Amino acid sequence: MNTAIDPWQRQLAEAFSSVDALCRHLQIDASSLPLLTDFKDFPLRVPRGFADCMEKGNPADPLLRQVLPLRDELYEYPGYSLDPVGDLPAVAKAGVIHKYRGRVLLLVTGGCAVHCRYCFRRHFPYGELQLSGQKIDQAIAYIQEHQDISEVILSGGDPLLLSDDKIADLFDRLSEIGHILRIRIHSRIPVVLPARITARFLQILAAQPQQMLLVLHANHPNELSDEVATACRLLSENQVTLLNQSVLLKDVNDDDRVLGRLSEKLFYFGVIPYYLHRLDRALGVGHFAVSDKKARRLIQTLQKNLPGYLVPKLVKEQAGAAYKIRIA
Ligand SMILES: *Cc1c(COP(=O)(O)O)cnc(C)c1O
Ligand code: SF4
Repeated sequence: MNTAIDPWQRQLAEAFSSVDALCRHLQIDASSLPLLTDFKDFPLRVPRGFADCMEKGNPADPLLRQVLPLRDELYEYPGYSLDPVGDLPAVAKAGVIHKYRGRVLLLVTGGCAVHCRYCFRRHFPYGELQLSGQKIDQAIAYIQEHQDISEVILSGGDPLLLSDDKIADLFDRLSEIGHILRIRIHSRIPVVLPARITARFLQILAAQPQQMLLVLHANHPNELSDEVATACRLLSENQVTLLNQSVLLKDVNDDDRVLGRLSEKLFYFGVIPYYLHRLDRALGVGHFAVSDKKARRLIQTLQKNLPGYLVPKLVKEQAGAAYKIRIA
C-alpha cells in the first residue's frame, strides 16, 4: 500500500489558514476590510490553487467574497437558524440522512478543503454524526435493510477528503449491495483542489459496478481553471456523469451574465448545470441572500439566453419536504 503523501494532501496542508497571509498574497490591505476577528469555530481555509483564481488587488473579488470572514456574519437576520434544512431530525442513523425516497445521503467526513462562509453545514455537529469505523457498519446495514434505496450519495463535509484507501473500502462494501444502482458524490474538491483526482481514484471509480455521478459545486466561472478542466476530462473519460450545483450568492453570482458564463464554461468542461440553490437560511449567512423575486428574474433571463439544458433548476430546501422545491 502506498503510504507516501499524495501531492493533493500536501496542497491541502499548505492551504491558506490566515486572513493576513491570504490578503498579502492578493496584495490587499486587510486592515481596510470589515473583517470578523473571532471565527475559530469556522476558520479560514483556502487552497492556494483556488486563491490563484482570484484577482490580485480586488477586495470585492467574487471568489474571495466566498471565503472571507466578514463582520456581517454577526448580524442576526430574522428567520435564520442553526439547522435551516431540517437535516438533524432526518438523521436515521449516525451519519445517514434518509430524507428523500430512494436516495440516502452518507456524511462520510465533516471536513472540507475550502471553508465557504455561506455554508449551512457550518453549524452541523459533525463530530457526533460523521461516519467512521463502527458507524460505517451501521450505515451499510441500514442501506442493506432498505431495498427501496437505489442511490447512495456521499456527502459531508467533502467526501473526497477521504483517502483513496478509505474510498476504496467504502466502495467495496457498496458494490455488494444489489439494490444500489448508482453512487453519487457531492464534492467541491474537483473545483478547489483538482489534484485530488488521482490516477488511483480514477481506477477505483472505473472499477465500481454501479453507475457513478459526481456533482461538483462551482459558483463562478473564474473558479473553473485549466486544472479543473483536466480533472473533469479525466472523470468523464472514466464514465463518471458530471453535474454541477451552485448557490445563488449576492455579489458573487447574482448576475445573468456571470451565471450564463458559468453554464457555458461548465458545459465546455463536460459538466451539466443541475441545481441553482437558494441560500439556506443558516445563522451568519444572511448577507449572501438574494430575493426570490430577483432569483426568478435571473432564471428568466438565462432561459432567454441559453439552451434549456444550460439553465440550472432554481430550488430551495424546505425542512420536512420530500424533495427540493422548484422556485418557478
Ligand atoms: C439534496 C439531497 C438529496 C439529493 O436530492 P436530488 O434532488 O436527488 O439531487 C438527497 N438527500 C438529501 C438529504 C438532500 O439534501
Ligand atoms: S460543505 Fe461544501 S459549501 Fe459547505 S464549506 Fe464544505 S465545500 Fe463549502
